[in-house]
Amino acid sequence: MSKVEKVVIIGSGPAGYTAAVYAARAGMEPVLYQGDQPGGQLTITTDVENYPGYPEGVQGPQMMIDFQKQAERFGTRIINGMVTAVDFSTYPHTLTIDEKEEVKAQTVIISTGASAKWLGLPGEERLNGMGVSACAVCDGFFFRGQEVAIVGGGDSACEEASYLSNICKKVYMLVRRDEMRASKIMENRVRKAKNIEILWNTEATEVLGDKEVEGVKIINNQSNEESVLDVKAFFIAIGHKPNTDIFKNYLDMDETGYINTIPGSTRTNVEGVFACGDAQDSIYRQAVTAAGTGCMAALDAERFLAEKESELVEEKN
Ligand code: NDP
Repeated sequence: MSKVEKVVIIGSGPAGYTAAVYAARAGMEPVLYQGDQPGGQLTITTDVENYPGYPEGVQGPQMMIDFQKQAERFGTRIINGMVTAVDFSTYPHTLTIDEKEEVKAQTVIISTGASAKWLGLPGEERLNGMGVSACAVCDGFFFRGQEVAIVGGGDSACEEASYLSNICKKVYMLVRRDEMRASKIMENRVRKAKNIEILWNTEATEVLGDKEVEGVKIINNQSNEESVLDVKAFFIAIGHKPNTDIFKNYLDMDETGYINTIPGSTRTNVEGVFACGDAQDSIYRQAVTAAGTGCMAALDAERFLAEKESELVEEKN
């Protein structure tokens, strides 16, 4: 039989790397699979000013490089691979990597995070990467000096609209209600920017263009008045979906797919499987809370292994 790992960590955001630091320092020899976006969501953000310990702030990608280095320093094996399937019906648990290789694990820590949501508009998928984007920080640069639109009224949309306002000529911000969900400080930043125009009660209905974005059709959902924004890019910042599809046959989840954990712990309904970070958190969704739950998951896994070991010793006696 192939080697059974003590702990396999799935995902490489703040939750996964923090779990790795704790598990490695506890001698659990963790293996961490990075997934298809090594470093997670923070690699597509700019300034992080609310992570304690960085009084001057830090760039998201740099922070994730630091997290990875810290996990590696204590011996975590970090593997650039994707867990494509799991089987939690037998113990030890089985994970399939990149649809080929199988790995067995006594404990599994899920830190797969969440991914950007899309609107599903005509033209959106076709023009993805040609002016349609869910990451202003990644793609805004290509539209410097031009007019662009962004959808959403949360903190992400505000942050990205502010970012775009520094490089683009004009930013239309489409908010579907007459108020934002964003925190006041973020909203005020957007309201103060001279080149951001907020279009309240406004929704996009189609992205226009053949090989690149040539405009966006919009509708005012109060007056039903339709018009076209002459923009070269269309950014979407309407929230995220947890990356938990591969676990749905085994784990209890809420209706959106966030994994349910036993209150006060990171334990799931399956023995030896723990969940941390945004995959199980629809409320706080912060780097620091993700890191905190990553620590909890490693401690919970360590305790679980210790209990299993003492059960085995008792059985032998
Ligand atoms: P949120 O869920 O907070 O906001 C989503 C926004 O998109 C809402 O305004 C929502 O409108 C709108 N929306 C959703 N679906 C549609 C749709 N189909 N059409 C049009 N608009 C739509 O997501 P965020 O990604 O903004 O934030 C997630 C979490 O991350 C939050 O807790 C936030 O505070 C945090 N965050 C913090 C940051 C920071 O502190 N620097 C930066 C970014 C995020 P409606 O309100 O009508 O539902």
